Amino acid sequence: MKKGPTQRNLGADEIAAANERFREEAERYGLAYRCQQCVHLRPEGVRCALGYPNEMLALGEVRALDGKGMFVFCKDFELDD
Ligand code: SF4
Repeated sequence: MKKGPTQRNLGADEIAAANERFREEAERYGLAYRCQQCVHLRPEGVRCALGYPNEMLALGEVRALDGKGMFVFCKDFELDD
């Protein structure tokens, strides 16, 4: 049986605190994880060349967790340098 993503039981306050901590650390360490820094972003816009729904990672706020406490990172991210 295939396992789905691990569900977290975090409250809204815990998610907000984790995202605030993530924003501070991402800025401090220059973390690259968004679509604009990925080789798979189509040059004409914000769409992913691999076809992923990427509005959150391309246009959404800087955060590690979505409203349900799930990580928002993309496993196919490749740094475009
Ligand atoms: S592969 Fe992932 S990180 Fe890269 S553009 Fe597509 S959705 Fe964004």
